[in-house]
Amino acid sequence: MRQCYLCGKGLRKNENKSKDHVPPKCIFPKEKPQNLITVPCCIECNGSFKLLDEKMRNFFAVLAGDKSGEVSWIARHEILRSGRLRKDFLSYAKPRPSLVDEKGNPRLVFYFNSEELERWLIRVVKGLAFYRTWIRIKDGAFYKMKVLSEFVPQPSNTFPMEQGLEFRPHFVYGVIQEGNTDFWVLIFYDHLMFSITVDIPT
Ligand SMILES: [Zn+2]
Repeated sequence: MRQCYLCGKGLRKNENKSKDHVPPKCIFPKEKPQNLITVPCCIECNGSFKLLDEKMRNFFAVLAGDKSGEVSWIARHEILRSGRLRKDFLSYAKPRPSLVDEKGNPRLVFYFNSEELERWLIRVVKGLAFYRTWIRIKDGAFYKMKVLSEFVPQPSNTFPMEQGLEFRPHFVYGVIQEGNTDFWVLIFYDHLMFSITVDIPT
């Protein structure tokens, strides 16, 4: 029996079985790539990320600006519409005066420091890991997130990861596995780069 990639529950057709897109399909424009990744998921876990998916999409797309294309337009609209989301968004992105762009303006560096972001990125990694191996990452694995805000994503031919997949410009990932440690890099909208290190218990 197939398992839910998040909670590990057995999945039964017409009962609790569904498919989850990883990364969530809302981060793509209306015209979606044909080969998006899906993994088996229970209906409960699938529903539990819906609001967070939209929130992260909105924040990422707005931070990436034009790079996220039409998604940025939707995201901006949603953030402007909601006072709470706007306030939340401002707490995610802070200017860092020591960094300036080529015109001398303070560069916006995103300091994501949020349990929510980490929870969301870990979920994406769990999905990608399941897609690669058809095995759930063991419960008890230890995750460490890093925001790689000073890095500029490189064109794919210089992408240093051993294996990965890309839906440029919306999403690219790579993973290096070494012993019981997996090092994942996730890039959204060719602009926001995160790493998740997963230590898997033996
Ligand atoms: Zn589940």
